[in-house]
Amino acid sequence: MVTSLMRRWKIRRLYNRKRWRHARRLCEHELETQNHDFATDIIVRSLYNEGLWKPLIDFTEQYPRADYKIYAQKAQRKLNQAREEAEGIPEPKNKKPWNVSDLLSNWTQEENRLWLRHPWGWAHWDMPEGYLLNDTHPALLHLALEVLLFPWVPETKHWVVEQRMPGANNSLSYSGGVDSTAAMLLLPKDTILAYHERNFTSMLNHSLPHSTFEAIEKRTGRSILCIPSNHEKIRTHHELQTGFSSANAACVHLILLADHLDLCSISFGTVIENTWLEKGLKFREFQNSYYWNHWPKKFEKAGLSYVLPINHISEAGALKICNQSVFADVVNSCLRGNGDRWCGTCWKCFHKNGPLGREIDATSKEISTYLNKKPLRTAQHALWALKIQNLEHLAPHLIEHIADDLSWWDKAYEPGLNLIEEPLRSIVREKTESYLEWMAEPYALLNVDLDM
Ligand SMILES: [Zn+2]
Repeated sequence: MVTSLMRRWKIRRLYNRKRWRHARRLCEHELETQNHDFATDIIVRSLYNEGLWKPLIDFTEQYPRADYKIYAQKAQRKLNQAREEAEGIPEPKNKKPWNVSDLLSNWTQEENRLWLRHPWGWAHWDMPEGYLLNDTHPALLHLALEVLLFPWVPETKHWVVEQRMPGANNSLSYSGGVDSTAAMLLLPKDTILAYHERNFTSMLNHSLPHSTFEAIEKRTGRSILCIPSNHEKIRTHHELQTGFSSANAACVHLILLADHLDLCSISFGTVIENTWLEKGLKFREFQNSYYWNHWPKKFEKAGLSYVLPINHISEAGALKICNQSVFADVVNSCLRGNGDRWCGTCWKCFHKNGPLGREIDATSKEISTYLNKKPLRTAQHALWALKIQNLEHLAPHLIEHIADDLSWWDKAYEPGLNLIEEPLRSIVREKTESYLEWMAEPYALLNVDLDM
């Protein structure tokens, strides 16, 4: 007994003196003793401090424990970063400099790969067989440049070209998550579904959406067009994390494919939290917003109608729609899951998977951090999610708001239909009614003000 304690004391002293390798070596002899938990702890932390990422991942697989997951994830991220740095960002065979006076000359094509020369490097899209840049209308190429670069290149905002004539097909920028699946369910069955796929290593895991796509194909015969691209790297040149340059960059693959697919519209799975509520916190008359008065007009110039088929529905309503559909068991918004399993510890898991009755750990670090953030992200929905999961005790500072009746939150806001043009409006109305009730007047939505 004493010797076991003595050995622990010695190891701890080594560890505290940053002699990690030595501490770790001694711990390897303790794995089969009563010091097992102590030893695995020291080994995991030492490997982490030593930057031995691969051995760390291997060790946590051999000795799995919930609290080691975060170390393994960090290690994986470090490995990915190192690989990306080694591989670099791909470039075309024919290189030329960025040309701001002839914006469209920055687009080129090599085989099926479409290249964009931007001021800081190159982005690309892997297009379907038969795609031709030369057959793509200049208005589409200008619109794509604008949604990708306008935050940094103001010249991309002003373009005058002949208007493109609308095509025949509707499309949806589809992510496989709850909101965009609800949008799919409210749109006509022949709507083209297209997914933007990050084609570089990142923490986001594409296996969950792909298992959703597989189920959709199997059950309905509808296929999802996947377009690999690295355009989310563009904003990393401006000290921002990998992601979309602007909200509409999420659909840039469809803008670029609009002639190839003969599109007349692009739909988005944008919910009330991002339309009628400002940042999910406070009601606004969305039809008067700058956003609504700017972007649909721009898309119109490119012969595309800008459709928000679930602008009248909250995340809770979207969950309710998916839950009544044949995809209830496969839709998942978690971006950190694996195969068909969600992570259970992220914010998306809290407010999407939890209310669906799926197992989550609401005390996880990420969920607690978000719940205590001011202002609370997607506040109205978070309150509802706390209430419906009986988790009010996790956010005592929000209790006064949770006391309100929130039963209206999963119903649909009828005035939102006015943002959708016919003939889609009637279709969306009819399908909405088959899943949800309408909010009653006077609308409680108008009183939402959670800017705490
Ligand atoms: Zn998750």
